[in-house]
Amino acid sequence: MAGAEVTDIAVVGGGPAGLSAALAARQTGAEVVVVDENSAPGGQLRKQIHKFFGSKEHHAGQRGFRIAEELAAACRDRGVELWTDALAYGIFDHTLGIVRRGTAFTLTARAIVLATGASENALAFPGWTLPGVMGAGAAQTFINLHRVLPGRRVLMVGAGNVGLIVSYQLLQAGAEVLGVVEAAPRIGGYAVHAAKIRRAGVPIWTRHTVLRADGRGQLEEVTIAALDENGRPIPGSERAFAVDMLCLAVGLTPLTELAWQAGCRFEYSALLGGHVPLHSEDMETTVPGLFVAGDVAGVEEASTALEEGRLAGLAAAAYAGHGSPALEKEKAAARERLLALRSGPFGSGRRHAYEEIVRGWLRWSGAR
Ligand SMILES: Cc1cc2nc3c(=O)[nH]c(=O)nc-3n(C[C@H](O)[C@H](O)[C@H](O)COP(=O)(O)OP(=O)(O)OC[C@H]3O[C@@H](n4cnc5c(N)ncnc54)[C@H](O)[C@@H]3O)c2cc1C
Repeated sequence: MAGAEVTDIAVVGGGPAGLSAALAARQTGAEVVVVDENSAPGGQLRKQIHKFFGSKEHHAGQRGFRIAEELAAACRDRGVELWTDALAYGIFDHTLGIVRRGTAFTLTARAIVLATGASENALAFPGWTLPGVMGAGAAQTFINLHRVLPGRRVLMVGAGNVGLIVSYQLLQAGAEVLGVVEAAPRIGGYAVHAAKIRRAGVPIWTRHTVLRADGRGQLEEVTIAALDENGRPIPGSERAFAVDMLCLAVGLTPLTELAWQAGCRFEYSALLGGHVPLHSEDMETTVPGLFVAGDVAGVEEASTALEEGRLAGLAAAAYAGHGSPALEKEKAAARERLLALRSGPFGSGRRHAYEEIVRGWLRWSGAR
C-alpha cells in the first residue's frame, strides 16, 4: 500500500451493509475497496451465533457468522479488495485517511459508501464505571469471538432483542444469568427470544431499573428497584444481587463521525437511534458522491442493511460512471424489498422515520 491509493468505489465498514454495497458496485464492473477496522470482515454478524429470521433471500435460518463468511467469500471471488485491520480516521472530500497496521495513507474514490454501523449506548448510575459493567455487545464479542467468559453471575439491563439474545448466549457460554431488568412496561424484543430465556429459568422484570453498582475495585453487587407509572423508583422495592458482571443492552446509536466530518446534513430521529444523515431514496447524503447504508443510516437489522447496501452500492457505481438502465431496475427492486421489510407490524414506524429522512433530503435538495 503506497501513500496515496485510488479506486472507483470505497466502502467504509465491512458489515452486511458494506459487503452488500461492495458486491453490488462490483457487479457493474467498478473497482471496489472495502475498509474495515477488524481482523476479518462481517461486522456484527461475526459474533452472531444464532439463526436469523426473515426470508430466504435475507439468509433466514442461517447463523450470522456463516452469512458473514459467505458475503466475504463472494466479495473475494468477484474481485472486491477487502482491507482488514484498516481504520478510516478521516474524510476530506472524496479522500479517506486510513491507518493500516501502523501505516497511514490515503484512499481517493469517485464515490464513497459509509457503512460504519452503530455503537452501544451506556447508562449512567453510581458505580457504572466499575470493571464488570459492560455493553451487551462487548460481552457478545468476548464469548463468541474470543471464547472468554468475562463474568460468571450476570444481570442484563434491557429486554430488547440484543439483551434477550445475549442473555441466552451467556447461558450457552456457561454463565448464570440472574435476570433481565427492563424499565419499559413491556418486553421490546421478539417473544420467541423472551420465551427461550424464560424456559431456561431467567426472570424478566419489566418496570424495573438499576439503582447502583458496588464493589471494591470491581463489580460485586447490583441494586435494582421497581418503577412506578412515572418511572420513579418505588421506595422499599430495592433488591441487591451479588454479581460479577452487569450487561447494558440499552440501545444503539448510528456511528456517524465520518458523515459529520464530511459536512453531511443530519436530522434527529429517536426511532432510528439518534442523529442520522439526510439521504435520498438512493442513499446519497447531502454531500454529492457520498452514500450511507445500514445502521449508520438508522439502527435496524441485517436484512435492511443488506438491501440498503445493495441500493447504495448500485447508486455509488452509477455516480462513478458505471450506470445503466438495468442498474436502475435493480435499484427500484431493492427499494421495493426495503419497503416490504418495513411494512410489517414492527417495521411500519421505522418506515415513516425513513420517509421523513428522505423528505428532509428532498427539502434540502429543492432549496439548493
Ligand atoms: C446481539 C445482536 C443480535 C442481532 N440479531 C439480528 C438478527 O437476528 N437478524 C437481523 O437481521 N439483525 C440482527 N442484528 C442486527 C444486525 O447485526 C445489524 O443491524 C447489522 O449488523 C448492521 O449492519 P451494518 O453493516 O450497518 O453494521 P455492522 O455490522 O456494525 O458493520 C459495521 C462495520 O464497520 C466497521 N467500522 C466502523 N467504523 C469504521 C471506520 N472508521 N473504519 C473502518 N471500519 C469501521 C465496524 O468495525 C464494523 O465491522 C443483531 C444485532 C445484535 C447486536
